[in-house]
Amino acid sequence: MFREATPAERQRYYREEWRLNDVPDFILATIAQREFGFDHRGEGPNDRYNRIATPAQLEGMLINTAPYAAYASVSFYEKPEKREGWLGAELVFDVDAKDLPLRSCSCSPGEVCEVCLAEAKEYILEVADVLRDDFALKELHFVYSGRGYHLRVLDEEVLHMQSPERAAVLDYVAGGVVPEPELLELRRGYPRVFRMRMLRLLSLLNLETLRSGGVPLKQADALLNPKTLRRVANELEEGSFATLKETLRSKGFAKFLELVRRINAEMLDAKVTVDVKRILRLPSSLHSKVSMKCVYIKNMERFDPFKHAVPRFVQERG
Ligand SMILES: [Zn+2]
Repeated sequence: MFREATPAERQRYYREEWRLNDVPDFILATIAQREFGFDHRGEGPNDRYNRIATPAQLEGMLINTAPYAAYASVSFYEKPEKREGWLGAELVFDVDAKDLPLRSCSCSPGEVCEVCLAEAKEYILEVADVLRDDFALKELHFVYSGRGYHLRVLDEEVLHMQSPERAAVLDYVAGGVVPEPELLELRRGYPRVFRMRMLRLLSLLNLETLRSGGVPLKQADALLNPKTLRRVANELEEGSFATLKETLRSKGFAKFLELVRRINAEMLDAKVTVDVKRILRLPSSLHSKVSMKCVYIKNMERFDPFKHAVPRFVQERG
């Protein structure tokens, strides 16, 4: 598992297993407006500025060249082969299990396992909830990227947003800004999102993390008491910080808010969301570095990367 695919395995994958049907309709329908990028030898996607006119052309290209990796832009162009005539771009959120700032598994940096992949999935679902509830967005599509998840938003009203607006939505859904003190306990809107993100972090906190954020040792110790943590969690759901403030004192509390903000901001890859000319791994293609499929997910609840993203050649490696 997670071993690099050989050129022979890549060829076998594209000839025997890859199906045009596995490319989502939202890409096939706009194929001629997207820029395609390919990585032929595992050196990064340096073959860019490609226009692919039809699904059949994509099929021929992938089967004949079995690339190390294939990408399509989230943006639409009049001339994708020149990246000219920008017509809009999907709004995208990218969570990579290997880059999660806090994980409850014991993966080394750069590695992923069932536990952190499940944490990445749970997190991207929380992001989607906020986009639906607070922004009334509906066209949300999930993709398993090979080591994490992409959430691609295709609602008409997001397509023409520029980078600063995308950055603002990112800050909102991620909890990347500390709310004004007088708004912290607000029942709805952004302060609620920030509290929910804080709530998720509580179970992953340890002394080292709290100390790295400048929370004094004595207060950090007190917070990590399981009873205290439980009370803090219950209060956060109600919109109250009483126990948290009492335990951390005012200096520790301020440091803690800043720590939560920093960790929140590291959950998603901001560059992916803000860049309006980004290329993203093509759903259906092979992530050769880890020998997993990039999969367009139709049913997120039932999706399990170890069942649905493992190519046949890996199952047969033994
Ligand atoms: Zn892990």
